[in-house]
Parts: sequence; structure tokens; C-alpha cells
Amino acid sequence: DSALNPKTIRPGATIGMLGGGQLGRMFFLAAKQMGYHAVVLTDSEGSPAALVADSVIVGDYTPQNLEKLASQCDVVTLEFENIPDAAVQHLAKRVPTFPPASILRIAQDRHLEKRTLAEMPLPVTPFRTVEHPGSEAGIKELSEAAAAFGFPLILKTARSGYDGKGQKKVANQEELIAAANEFGNERIVAEKMIAFEREVSVLVARNQQGETAVYPLIENQHRNHILAISHSPAAASPEIEKAAVQIAETVAKKLDLVGILCVELFEVPGEGLIINEIAPRPHNSGHLTIEGSSTSQFEQHVRAVCGLPLGDTSPRCPAAMFNLLGDLWGDDGSDPPFEQALTVPGVSLHLYGKTEARPGRKMGHLTAVGKTVEEALRRVYEAYELLV
Ligand code: ADP
Ligand code: MG
Repeated sequence: DSALNPKTIRPGATIGMLGGGQLGRMFFLAAKQMGYHAVVLTDSEGSPAALVADSVIVGDYTPQNLEKLASQCDVVTLEFENIPDAAVQHLAKRVPTFPPASILRIAQDRHLEKRTLAEMPLPVTPFRTVEHPGSEAGIKELSEAAAAFGFPLILKTARSGYDGKGQKKVANQEELIAAANEFGNERIVAEKMIAFEREVSVLVARNQQGETAVYPLIENQHRNHILAISHSPAAASPEIEKAAVQIAETVAKKLDLVGILCVELFEVPGEGLIINEIAPRPHNSGHLTIEGSSTSQFEQHVRAVCGLPLGDTSPRCPAAMFNLLGDLWGDDGSDPPFEQALTVPGVSLHLYGKTEARPGRKMGHLTAVGKTVEEALRRVYEAYELLV
């Protein structure tokens, strides 16, 4: 049909996913609702996304498995940015694959990420990259960073960190040296500790045609460097909302995004927004869009990679989300009393189908909606307390 955009991948087609976690699972649930078929390449047939997929390829990102995925799909996307960009490039030669490998390369490396964003130019956390932290030169560079930024200083491995993994906060020179020796030859970034007023995030989608859609700001609370609670709308001024939209659109356009991307931000009194990091995929803080928005982040991701018109990002109602970590499960694997939480009005339960509960592992989440943000938050806290 020549009236259709040639890039449009219509419902009924098959979408492939790299990575089998909960983000892939919720993406598939949205895709299947719209009539797409779902194929996942994952390391386990029991992974959250595999459990809802129509077809599963179990294994690593070998040329053979990538070939198999490409042959079964009309478009491929991903739910996790730490995928070898060579694998994504390989796939992209065979089948439309979004987001592009170029974004992954940037998002996988904190140094490249900060440098790229700073060049746009967008505000990022002041940082210094140290190639060999454990060496004499490395310790000197770190000491200079501490002199410039002050203690405490946050050290992060440049690659493959998530949920606070690979991070160390050091309070003095002694701790700095101990941490530097532990990182050894692994490249790190040393960041100034930001005294933020609040943490917020902004989701932006961009489709193949280059249209963008930005969601209202979401406010986030972390515990032990892991996201605990999100709510939206955030308590942000119109100026901050406007700045967030500008940041999100700049990132999406300059990085040639196709798909959905989250920008994690610090709001600093008197300074405005500073970018912490970007994630070129659906984001934990965006889970509340399932109940709280006209279009969920997952449906938006489907629309973006399939070249469909983007959906309305306006809120349907205030919403709050509370992550359910493995700590809530008993040592014997017994699960918390979900039926108690469900007695609270406005509460929805999401479980990811993970059988093994470990401390800090994201097993599911609760969302509560309400007439006001306060009501949504009150409800989600109340429901959570009934699980503890
Ligand atoms: P991850 O990739 O594990 O999500 P982040 O860089 O987002 O790592 O850090 C996780 C959390 O740690 C942040 O959301 C924030 O709460 C805290 N954090 C990280 N870097 C800083 C910083 N420079 N200043 C203040 N808090 C920080
Ligand atoms: Mg983060």
C-alpha cells in the first residue's frame, strides 16, 4: 500500500527483543495488546520477557542466534543498553533495529555519555575520568578531583553499572585510596556529589519519522542507590518542566533516537537541572505511566520503533509507584501477602515472573493512582506497608 509510510511496521508483524528482563516483558504485553507477535533472544527460557513471548531463542548474542532472530522479525529493539554494539550493528544489517548502536555505545560508557551530553551542550555532573585508578598517576588524578569537587566524591565504573552497582562514595583521602586500589585498572569516573533538592526523570520518545513526544516530569526517591519510589506529576516549577522538555528533545534529536529514552536528572537549587545519566529504553521510573498516562512508556516504545504515530503523553491521573525488591520475600522463597496490598483502593500489582528472590532484585512493583499526588503516594505507601 503506497499510501503507507514504507517504514511503518503494522500490527500483525513480529517484533524482536534483545534481553529478557521485566522491561522486555512489559514491552511485549503492550505490543501483544496491539496485535504484534513477540520474539525474544535471552539467556533463559524462564526470563520475564520469555514467559510472555510467542517465541524464545535461548542463548548469547552469537552471529547464529542474531541471524535466527533477524529471520523471524520485522523489527528488533532492546530493553537493556549493555548489549555489545557489534551485535546490534550486525542485526541492523539484516532487519530494522532500534535504537541505533551509536546510542548504545554512548549510554554504555559514563565517560563518553557525559562528554557527548556536555558537547550538546547540556549540563552534566562535574566529573573527571581516570583510566587506571589504582596506579600512582590515577591516585594523583583522583586527589585532584577531590580537591576540585570536595568530599564526598562518587566513583563509578565507566562501564556496565546499574542499580548502584560499581559505585563507591568516598568521604576522605584514606577511603579514596582504598577504593582506587579496589578499582585497580578499571576505568572510572569521579563525580562531584550533587546536593540536589530532588531527583526527577523525563521520558522522551522519537519515532522513525522523527516526531518526538515528551512525558511530564517524574519525581524519584532512591534507597541504597536503587530506585524505590516514583510519582508523577513531580513538584516542579513550569520553568523546570520547560527545561526538562528542552533537554529531552535535544538528546533525542542529537542522538538520532528511535524508541524511548529516559533522562535521569538532579534538580539543584539555584542551578536548575543537571543530567545524571541517560537510558535508551523504557525506565523503571516510567512504570507508573501504565496506569497514570494516556499512553504507557511501553506502548510508546512500540509505536516509536514501528513508525506509528506517537501517543498522547498527558497524565490520566496522578500516580505513584513503589518497587518490590527481593528483600520482601522470605528466606524460604515465600512471597509477601499481595492480597493485603490489593485491599487499598487505586492500587495495581505488577509481578515480573521471577522465581528467585534476592536482596535488591526487582521482583515487581505497586502502582497507586489517586485524585492528587498526595493521595496516590499515601495509597502506595499504605499498600507497601501491608507487604512488609
Ligand atoms: P545507576 O546506573 O546504577 O542507576 P546512577 O549514576 O544513576 O547509577 O546512580 C544511582 C543513584 O545514586 C542516583 O539516582 C542518585 O540517587 C545517586 N547518585 C549517583 N551519582 C550521584 C551524584 N553525583 N550526586 C548525588 N547523588 C548521586
Ligand atoms: Mg541511574
